[in-house]
Amino acid sequence: MIFVFYAILSTLILAESTKNETTRDYCSLPDAIYADGVSAADFGATGWSYANADNWADLVVTCGGSFQSPIDIITSGTTQESIQPQINYKSKDAGVGYEEANKPYTKEYEGEYSEIDVTDASGSVYRYYAKQFHIHTPSEHTIDGKYFDLEIHFVHQAIQDEEQDCNKVKNKLTVFGLMFSEQPNAADYEAFKPWFDSNATGEVDSFDLNDFFSKMSDVTYYHYNGSLTTLPCSQTVNWVVFQQPLPISTAQLKQFQDFLSDSTLFPIKHNNRPIQHLNGRKILKGTAITAGVTEIPDVEASFAQTLFMAILMIILIQ
Ligand SMILES: [Zn+2]
Repeated sequence: MIFVFYAILSTLILAESTKNETTRDYCSLPDAIYADGVSAADFGATGWSYANADNWADLVVTCGGSFQSPIDIITSGTTQESIQPQINYKSKDAGVGYEEANKPYTKEYEGEYSEIDVTDASGSVYRYYAKQFHIHTPSEHTIDGKYFDLEIHFVHQAIQDEEQDCNKVKNKLTVFGLMFSEQPNAADYEAFKPWFDSNATGEVDSFDLNDFFSKMSDVTYYHYNGSLTTLPCSQTVNWVVFQQPLPISTAQLKQFQDFLSDSTLFPIKHNNRPIQHLNGRKILKGTAITAGVTEIPDVEASFAQTLFMAILMIILIQ
């Protein structure tokens, strides 16, 4: 009898854990409108490239939209944001690493990191999963007109589940932009090494996304609504660009620059889209917390607490 009970219990627990893995459903991006015969996968001579970056709107209508990225962040025109978002990635499951993605226009690792709560520019908190990170050199965003040697994009995508409805998440993606500046003798980043090591498998299995943020002494960021900076330029990105550049050695920077060796596709070894118009968008400025000290304000919990107090008051009055 006890055995049957345990058998049923284990089946239920297994079913629940399997359900959690299989029901994860990423909030999809809006369908882009492509010109005939061109798609995001068509990078190269017959499709899009950094040589024709001023004409992407001819290939995909969205690329000519008014909420495009990257932008020049003019710091004197920013507005102070009241929240202090917490960046504290929960650990990956042991043995689940990042795999190198075969992208001809960037170096990219794909692999799901665990969830992170992020506030969008309207102040609402949503849950995202870290999905991949990739490189641009030089930077795509500029701060007061200044380019940096390299910019990493950490791409997070919202999920649909019992707790979150995709229709309510305004930006399906949240991307963190981290700047890097060349410092000849800076220590090399372990996480970058497998990209350029011919003996490596291309997998990174001991990488902690928190590491980059914990190296910043100033965690000031700029926050605005924008787009993907590659085709199809979907205008559904909650952008968070960090101000303080991290150091990168001359040798590691050169490895990224040398990757862009095709001068037809990458004029002067660049894979950064030109700066786009701000078109009246507001840029918020804030400071993130990188140690697990303060929680992000939870809008729904505050509402629930208010409702609970209201019901309690009614009961007490009666
Ligand atoms: Zn990018």
